[in-house]
Amino acid sequence: MKKYPYLIVGAGFTGATFAQQMQSQGKQCLVIEKRPYVGGLSYTEDIENIDVHIHGAHIFHTNRSDIWNYVNQFSMFNHFINSPMAIYQGKIYNLPFNMNTFSKMWDITSPLEAKAIIDDQIRTYGVKDPQNLEEHAISSVGKDIYDVLIKGYTEKQWGMEAVKLPAFIIKRLPIRFTYDNNYFDDRFQGIPDEGYTKMIQNMLKGVDVELNTDYFSNKEYFDSLAEKTVYTGPIDRFFDFQYGRLDYRSLRFETEVLACSNYQGNAVINYTEKSVPYTRIIEHKHFNPKPNQIKTVVTHEYPEVFDLANEPYYPINNSENQQLYQRYFALSKKYPRVIFVGRLAEYKYYNMDQAITSARDRVKEELDKTTR
Ligand code: UDP
Repeated sequence: MKKYPYLIVGAGFTGATFAQQMQSQGKQCLVIEKRPYVGGLSYTEDIENIDVHIHGAHIFHTNRSDIWNYVNQFSMFNHFINSPMAIYQGKIYNLPFNMNTFSKMWDITSPLEAKAIIDDQIRTYGVKDPQNLEEHAISSVGKDIYDVLIKGYTEKQWGMEAVKLPAFIIKRLPIRFTYDNNYFDDRFQGIPDEGYTKMIQNMLKGVDVELNTDYFSNKEYFDSLAEKTVYTGPIDRFFDFQYGRLDYRSLRFETEVLACSNYQGNAVINYTEKSVPYTRIIEHKHFNPKPNQIKTVVTHEYPEVFDLANEPYYPINNSENQQLYQRYFALSKKYPRVIFVGRLAEYKYYNMDQAITSARDRVKEELDKTTR
C-alpha cells in the first residue's frame, strides 16, 4: 500500500486547491514545494506592515459565485477595485480603455464623439479580419490608443512584435464607452485581508506539506509515495524538454522601501513607452490600506527573457509554442498516473480563479472515477 493517494508537486493556487478539495473528501495528500514557502507566485510578505506581492501584483477577480464562495472560506476579502493608470511621455491616462481614457486622448466628452474617432481610425487602418494582437487592438480602439497605450507596453512585456502575438492577450481587457475605470468586468473582486500566503496556508490546514523540496531531485522516490502525482510545474520540464523548450516570459522585480507615505497615489501605474525599461510600478500599500503604514514599498517590474535560471511567469501562447505544447499534451496522455494541471502544466494564461477552477474540475473527475 502506498501512503498517499496523491502527491502534489507545487503549493501555488492549483496545488493548494487540489489538496484542499481532496482533503475535504478524506483523502490525505502530500504537497511538495521547492520554494521555502507556500503560495507560489501569489506569495506575499509583510514589509513595514504592508503586504508585499513578492512575485508581482495579484488581484483576485472572478465572475463565478461558486469560486468566490470557495475562496471566501479561507480568507476575508477587501473591496479593492483595480483601476490602474498608464503614463506615456509624462501624460497620465485611465485604464482600461474607457471614456476617461478617450476624453484625455482627444479632449472630447461623449461616447458618440469617441466612437466616431475610433471608427474613423479603424476605416483608415482598414483591418477587416484581425489576425493578431496589433490588428485586433487597432480594430477595437483605433490607432491613437494603440500607439500610446498598447504597442510599447505589449512589445516590451512579451519581447516580440505585437503582430506576432495572439489577439486573446489583449481581449482580457475591457473596452467601455462609460466612465468606469474598473479593470475587470467580473462580478467579484478583492484582495485577501491577511495576504495570499495566509490564505493558502488556511487552504492547506491538515495537509502534509514539505517545503524546500525539489521533485526533480528524486522524482522516482517522490512518485513512489503516492498512487498518483499531480504535477503543477512546466510541462516541458517534466518530460526533460525532449521535444524542445516551450517559451515563457519571465519578470524581474526591484522592490524598495521608501520613507514617504504615498509615492504614486495608486496601486498600479503602467509605463507604456517602449523606451522605459519597466512595464509598471506597483505601490503595494494601496492594495490593502491599513493603519500604521508609515512608509511605502514600491516595485518596478521588468520583463525578462526566460532562461531556466529565472522563473517562468507567462506562457507565450503563439502558434509555434501551441504546436509544441500539443505534442507534450499528447505525450502526457500516456502517463495516466500523472495529472497535469495549472498555468504551467497546461501552458495556459490562467488567472487565479481559472487555476482554481481547473484544479477543482480535475478533483471532480478523479472522484467521479472512484465512485463509478
Ligand atoms: N496591455 C497594454 N497596455 C497596458 C496594459 C495591458 O497593451 O497598459 C496589454 C498587454 O499586451 C498585456 C495585456 O494587455 O500583456 C494583458 O494585460 P494584463 O494587465 O491583463 O496583464 P497581466 O496583469 O496578466 O500581466
